Amino acid sequence: MKIAVLTSGGDSAGMNAVVRGVVRAGIVKGCETWVVREGYEGLVRGNDENVQLPPYDNTTILKDVTIADPEFLNTLRFGDGTLLRDGTFGHNCGRSLRGRYIIRVGWDDVRGYLPQGGTLIGTARSKDFREHSGRLKAAFNLIKEGIDALVICGGDGSLTGADVFRSEWPGLVKELETSGQITEAQATKHGHLKIVGLVGSIDNDMSMTDLTIGAPTALHRICEAIDSISSTAASHKRAFVLEVMGRHCGWLALMAGVAGGADFIMIPEQPPEAGKWQEEMCKAIDSHRVVGKRKTIVIVAEGAHDTSLTPIKAEDVKNVLSEKLNLDTRVTTLGHTQRGGRPCYYDRLLPTLQAVEAVNTLLEATPGTPSYMIGISENKITRVPLMDAVEMTRNVAKAIAEKDFARATSLRDPEFAEALDGFYHTSQLATEPDLPIHKRLRVAFMHVGAPAGGMNAATRAAVRYCLYQGHIPLAIYNGFNGLLDDNVTPLTWLGVDNWMARGGSELGTNRTLPSINIGQVASKFQEHGINALMLIGGFEAFTALVELDEAREAYPALCVPIVHLPATISNNVPVTEYSLGSDTCLNALVDACDAIKQSAVASRSRVFVVETQGGKCGYIATMGALATGACIVYTPEDGINLDMLRQDVKYMKRRYGIDKKGKATGRLIIRNEVASSVYSTEVMTKMFKEEGGTLFDSRMVSLGHTLQGNIPSPIDRTRAVRLSLKSMHFIEEQAEQLAKLPWKQRWTYKGAIAVITIQGTKVKWVRVEEMVEQADMKNRRGKTQWWTKYKQMVEMLVAREQLVN
Ligand code: ADP
Repeated sequence: MKIAVLTSGGDSAGMNAVVRGVVRAGIVKGCETWVVREGYEGLVRGNDENVQLPPYDNTTILKDVTIADPEFLNTLRFGDGTLLRDGTFGHNCGRSLRGRYIIRVGWDDVRGYLPQGGTLIGTARSKDFREHSGRLKAAFNLIKEGIDALVICGGDGSLTGADVFRSEWPGLVKELETSGQITEAQATKHGHLKIVGLVGSIDNDMSMTDLTIGAPTALHRICEAIDSISSTAASHKRAFVLEVMGRHCGWLALMAGVAGGADFIMIPEQPPEAGKWQEEMCKAIDSHRVVGKRKTIVIVAEGAHDTSLTPIKAEDVKNVLSEKLNLDTRVTTLGHTQRGGRPCYYDRLLPTLQAVEAVNTLLEATPGTPSYMIGISENKITRVPLMDAVEMTRNVAKAIAEKDFARATSLRDPEFAEALDGFYHTSQLATEPDLPIHKRLRVAFMHVGAPAGGMNAATRAAVRYCLYQGHIPLAIYNGFNGLLDDNVTPLTWLGVDNWMARGGSELGTNRTLPSINIGQVASKFQEHGINALMLIGGFEAFTALVELDEAREAYPALCVPIVHLPATISNNVPVTEYSLGSDTCLNALVDACDAIKQSAVASRSRVFVVETQGGKCGYIATMGALATGACIVYTPEDGINLDMLRQDVKYMKRRYGIDKKGKATGRLIIRNEVASSVYSTEVMTKMFKEEGGTLFDSRMVSLGHTLQGNIPSPIDRTRAVRLSLKSMHFIEEQAEQLAKLPWKQRWTYKGAIAVITIQGTKVKWVRVEEMVEQADMKNRRGKTQWWTKYKQMVEMLVAREQLVN
């Protein structure tokens, strides 16, 4: 099969990862791979026959390289690696692509694509492609090059165009045959065009997928801006109104509002009331100022309006704040900064997984199958009929136009409504608490184990919720040691205000478990009147939960709702697919690896053995390897043995043997710190250095505690709010259940002690016994882990099998 990939419409971070993924997965699966420059415009223009590419310089070393499939070797070295990388389309390497838009590419043409923002193969908006005549030219150009499958990465406009093209295809082929532009044989061969769409859109505005490519990076850019603005706003006691992108979709504004700890947001799906929003907004913001808040952040989506559909612009908000509240107010429009920049971890992972699925979809397509869009739902990569997704997306805009805002919100993914609720509860300051006095609790918060991004954000959200409801939030500083030392203090609404963007642990954290003195722990519960406990941490917190559960029969004071919110960079808590901090950690890893890889370019070719944390769980190493394009990953689950190492050395030698002469290249090996006690990072680095000879050198890098990250990522912050509020709901429900039982019987009720987990897109609480059944307590990880299959994909995307066999 000849597969071509193009990027179209507005650019977004992660589009390059799509191109790389399609090209590499395509080659590995035996396809010929092509790219189309400048989106549909390139398809319409095609290749100028008068401009021929000069034969490329084939000075590869190829020393000692013999592989089972010599054809594969050819595909591998087809490109020259700079052809499409520097945005000048080869002018620097003497092979201009001017006049040629549909280009065959090889493995090395897409090297170095993962860390680059925007789209290196170009994108455009094509008027011609909207016309039948344009699409006829496009069909001719594809058939001329013999291409029979297309991968399109773009927004809903581009995907609509793709479907129009596909449905018209048989007619276009007939027309071309009738006019004699193509032969009968060509017409027969190209009777069907296989198309698959990937959603590249920074707005996250496509239905039937939870996340679109580019949206997480845009959220990163917005949160960086909010974090910077927050400090200057607080210094001058100013208000800032931030306009963010999103014409029909408030996802960016909403998530930025949650992650950035904004005071007020304006989004199209849940518009404020016409004529009343000014007063409502001022009331909310004034209440924050009254308790001493020095800064105000309002986030306005580009397409914001009130309930009568009158647009609300950032300037309108500014005028209201200046005039009614007398605040020194500034407007910041983030504009195109939201599009640009290096893709974050998730915008490397998601497009890679989806690109592989796109190639599989094309290979499985038959003339009868519809065009699919590749999405993600419940943490699984999905295929959905492209037109259904486009139509459902249009329905959101339609619902908004018809002022059916409840429907517009319901058509978004399930997280959307929960994020709205999260924003409401963490930004509002209730004048009168929600709950009657007898239902109010003293809820204690404790951080356990190592710090992880999002711990503070989760605590902040729960504290705000407590105050909204009328509970008393209590900080237990320094874990169980702190409890024994009576280091317990109430937290205030304003006191936690800046915690959203803070890394580390504001409460202080350590690995002490309640078994240090369980009797004393129970007595402190009683002394401080603790009615509920939220433990935020990793495997230690889980172990603490198990110990508290076991002690309930002996100590009635412990018979209160206790919830564990998983937060650990290792992501090793059983059952839950994600724990807070793992996204921040992978972003730190990706940043570090970008810098490390670059340093090889300046000297001679180098293999970097990068050591990661993660305990006995290979999650960070494996997902990090996928997102950085590492060649080899070593995990504790699989261990390391001599046979493996022999193969790995063979792979590296062949890989460097194929490289172009004179060009230094960095390659990464990611090794979990405890993958093997014998083959340490140092031993392996020396081994690769020795074996690399004149082909490559080797260096070791230990990322250590840098992986705990600095500022928590937006995904960890929004996840923190969501999980934290669910934990609070759990505590409230279980407190009611427990209250129905006499104290002596409470220990028999097992429902009140649980872990809050993410499974798919759903947040579920799992009782402690069920958790223990799923836990490998010795190795401190789950008995089954959802991500282990991705190690194979790491190997596939570096053509390991083809090179080693
Ligand atoms: P996005 O893909 O980001 O939503 P656009 O809506 O601008 O961006 O669409 C990108 C391109 O897709 C357009 O310039 C046009 O070439 C093509 N396109 C969009 N809608 C159609 C359509 N209905 N028919 C044919 N081509 C279309």
